[in-house]
Amino acid sequence: MGEIVAEELMTWDKLQGIGNGGGEEKILVLVRLRPLSEKETLQNEVADWECINATTILYRNSIQERSGLPTAYSFDRVFRGDNTTRDVYDEGIRDIALSVVGGINSTIFAYGQTSSGKTYTMNGITEYTAVDVYDYIKKHEEREFVLKFSAVEIYNEVVRDLLATDGTSLRLLDDPEKGTIIEKLTEETLRDWSHLRELLSICEAQRRIGETLLNETSSRSHQILRLSIESSAREFIGKGNSTTLNFVDLAGSERASQALSVGQRLKEGCHINRSLLTLGTVIRKLSKGRQGHVNYRDSKLTRILQPSLGGNARTAIICTLSPARSHVEQSRNTLLFASCAKEVSTNAQVNVVMSDKALVKHLQKEVARLESELRTPAVSSSTCDHGPLLRKKDAQIQQLEKENRELKMQRDLANSRIADLLHAIENYKT
Ligand code: ADP
Ligand code: MG
Repeated sequence: MGEIVAEELMTWDKLQGIGNGGGEEKILVLVRLRPLSEKETLQNEVADWECINATTILYRNSIQERSGLPTAYSFDRVFRGDNTTRDVYDEGIRDIALSVVGGINSTIFAYGQTSSGKTYTMNGITEYTAVDVYDYIKKHEEREFVLKFSAVEIYNEVVRDLLATDGTSLRLLDDPEKGTIIEKLTEETLRDWSHLRELLSICEAQRRIGETLLNETSSRSHQILRLSIESSAREFIGKGNSTTLNFVDLAGSERASQALSVGQRLKEGCHINRSLLTLGTVIRKLSKGRQGHVNYRDSKLTRILQPSLGGNARTAIICTLSPARSHVEQSRNTLLFASCAKEVSTNAQVNVVMSDKALVKHLQKEVARLESELRTPAVSSSTCDHGPLLRKKDAQIQQLEKENRELKMQRDLANSRIADLLHAIENYKT
């Protein structure tokens, strides 16, 4: 019965263009090329990358390329410097992000070197998604929604609650049903959109800012913002589980590639970013198929986001690039990561079981329909004559009742024979 309602809701959502039904699908990989920054222009930087159509990005160096490296890369969608974050949202991310209102977990990542535009992109994406989620809720007044928000930062493998002021590190625990959970994480129940906006600005202020060679205000940390949704029409599988949407703004990817390019020995001053390195190896491993051990447990980031990496979620990765010639090595590394990511499949399941309330509502609707059918027998008999069918069923019922009576008699007879035999045995013994 529950499935009927769930199906109805999903059909409605499909009509609204929100989400698909989940299932096995590849991670959606988008590449966003930002324009040359003012600083880069002042330094006479040249833009070497160009999006030649909606899906292909090309390396165009005036100096003849002799490296033998590829010059063209294709993805689900590539965005030029003059594309807005709105374009990125509308033409790629929206569908995956809004799966969350259809009971499907989803995650949006931003990957790229420092100052390539990850935070710039994610801020816009988070805002557009929140606006659409609230819009959806407004259009579904018959259902009650509870939205919760939480935020963490991972810095040097320490998980910190961005909504808590004490700054203590949080532990990860393994729950047999829910998987990895973050202990004592603050979860704010959202009052409205402005409440969320307020919390987002708290996170921004709290986020640790690190200095790097590339940009004096760039982050070395990973940020995970999480929106959880519970709905009165959908109770989610597992105890206290809800559907979650993660926005993940990763630390600058140069750390991982620097670490890789010099093997395990790092350049002076460059901290190894275990989470980013592990993310890279997990993606590489998954891109080659699902055989063998995947080292999710090697870092905090991959433990927390395990379902989004080849598991029960719809996932999109936005890879951001600087077009500058001086960054070509980093850009290639980013595109290499992106190429691996697009080979990874996830298998999102709809978290739907009916709540009692929704079930009662559905049954009431059914009763009302049947009552109205009974009140207008003329209509039902004119569309379909049930008379002969009912007579046949009646005859069958009578036949079954007769057989039932006979069987009962045979059973009673057998019982009394057994009793007689037992009695005879008793007598024989004595
Ligand atoms: P990251 O988070 O990857 O380190 P940021 O998002 O902070 O990089 O971007 C670095 C700078 O470039 C910021 O000043 C930002 O406003 C600007 N920027 C990034 N992407 C774009 C874009 N697509 N269009 C215009 N400016 C951008
Ligand atoms: Mg940033």
